Amino acid sequence: MLNECPHCFTDVLMKSDGTCPACLRDASNVSDQDLYMTKASLRHGTESPPNICAICGDATQRMGQFRRVAPQFTPSGLSIFGIARFLDRLSGKTAQEISLKVPECEACVSDGKRLRVHHLDFENAVATFIVHNRFKDALKSTR
Ligand SMILES: [Zn+2]
Ligand SMILES: [Zn+2]
Repeated sequence: MLNECPHCFTDVLMKSDGTCPACLRDASNVSDQDLYMTKASLRHGTESPPNICAICGDATQRMGQFRRVAPQFTPSGLSIFGIARFLDRLSGKTAQEISLKVPECEACVSDGKRLRVHHLDFENAVATFIVHNRFKDALKSTR
């Protein structure tokens, strides 16, 4: 049975001593703040996620724009492998960028808090973030 590590958010089978095999930290030793955070995936083109700050879980109307261009798509990143990926992208097989809206409240933004990116999946145009539980719950209930 896989559990989400509260430190690195990887889905892992915890070792018998309670540590995570991915980051080697003790999964039972977490701060209060960590307990509220979890993974959530958003699709490219998401325009109206729940109005809950993804960072702190408070209600907010403020939407931030998240955008990442696939790394291999830049000419400087072209290798043999890169060119194959580049051609894949030209033919529309994989996403060239992931762009979507994420709620980030005024308080978090002025505190300089940034949404943590866990994983970017350009093949499926899905971005996985480390978000507040309340945002994740709201996300689930809108589906
Ligand atoms: Zn871990
Ligand atoms: Zn916030």
